[in-house]
Amino acid sequence: MLTAMSRPTRFEHFRWLGDKRSLRVHDLDNSTDDCEIDELMASEKFASFGPDSLLEAKNRCYKPCPHCVRSDDAAA
Ligand SMILES: [Zn+2]
Repeated sequence: MLTAMSRPTRFEHFRWLGDKRSLRVHDLDNSTDDCEIDELMASEKFASFGPDSLLEAKNRCYKPCPHCVRSDDAAA
């Protein structure tokens, strides 16, 4: 079984992770080193969404991360 990157333990049940400082939302299924998820978790300035969807993140004025959110998802 292949996993690109392990998810932060506290977010293993979430896909979308918001950064409250930049109002950027990351796709944990596709996150890259450039996302600096570890740094975000350490800062504790992260947000989860309910429902856990990109649309909900957008409704809260979060912008899709250019590194990990696929363009077809971002256009949805
Ligand atoms: Zn990202």
